[in-house]
Amino acid sequence: MTTVYFVVPCYNEEEVLPETVKRLSSKLETLIKNNIADEKSRMLFVDDGSKDKTWELIEQFSSENKYVGGVKLSRNRGHQNALLSGLMTAKGKCDCVISLDADLQDDIGVIDEFIKKYNEGCEIVYGVRSSRKKDTFFKRSTAQGYYKFMSMLGVDIVYNHADYRLLGSRALDALSEYKEVNLFLRGIVPLIGYRCDYVYYERSERFAGESKYPLKKMLRFAIDGITSFSVKPLKLISNIGIIICILSIIGFIYALVSVLMGVAAAGWASLMCSIWFLGGLQMFSIGIVGTYVGKIYSEVKARPRYRIEKEIINGYPQNDNPESINNINKDV
Ligand code: UDP
Ligand code: MG
Repeated sequence: MTTVYFVVPCYNEEEVLPETVKRLSSKLETLIKNNIADEKSRMLFVDDGSKDKTWELIEQFSSENKYVGGVKLSRNRGHQNALLSGLMTAKGKCDCVISLDADLQDDIGVIDEFIKKYNEGCEIVYGVRSSRKKDTFFKRSTAQGYYKFMSMLGVDIVYNHADYRLLGSRALDALSEYKEVNLFLRGIVPLIGYRCDYVYYERSERFAGESKYPLKKMLRFAIDGITSFSVKPLKLISNIGIIICILSIIGFIYALVSVLMGVAAAGWASLMCSIWFLGGLQMFSIGIVGTYVGKIYSEVKARPRYRIEKEIINGYPQNDNPESINNINKDV
């Protein structure tokens, strides 16, 4: 039988958490009853430095329900880091992990299928949205454009897959070897390899509360995804540079010929235009290079990606559990 851990990152999710715990518990209990998952299976809620009562709720649920576990990060570290901390906490305690959002947007009905594919030998199972009918037109078109753009840049990501996925213990071990600070799990997981498969589901609307991904965060996430996985923008700069060099040689010859032929030289306007154009282009290029330099800067510093303040598994704080004392206050 399989020990399954659900990992759920939560940031200010007090409105939806009680319902999430209720639904996931009944799902887990059914899985255990049907001998699909075993008794050691757990739900692990990661509190990503929430400002509301999220952690208090997790503590309360974990005291009432032995299947509920919790990890509290010392401050808000963002969805990807929160998810990673949960995955790394689950590593070594289970056969496979299923990560999902706290807002019940991911259809938990397909969890059986995830585990079935795992039992058939898949190490990674991606949850893929079968349609985006419920999204706003803006979110749908920007997301689709983004996936296309990423694949044009040579980044291998799964179309319409968010962070609803199953990872087996070998995939988790592999994931723990990726030390990068600018985390974009959707890009890293396909790099792991192993046998994988897909499960299709319909994504519903948020059960309660508001999206924690406003446009600004979404844009940052998108840019992170590109610059963490592709150096094509850098190559693009060189290519533009080469093209401009060729054009400027032609321009130079043209100017030389016009001078030799005594034709009036180009006026102030064209000069201004080219200065502006080149100035803009240079700034744009420097900006892109700067983005990469910034990344090198943070990677080189290799700061811890998260810090676990508290951890509860099996209904009691892990500090009291000699087996996992090593996990506490350890930078990862
Ligand atoms: N989340 C998090 N830390 C953050 C932002 C979000 O742990 O800084 C969690 C959030 O609680 C949710 C998941 O990440 O479980 C996805 O966020 P959300 O549903 O707001 O994003 P959307 O589905 O709107 O893209
Ligand atoms: Mg959501």
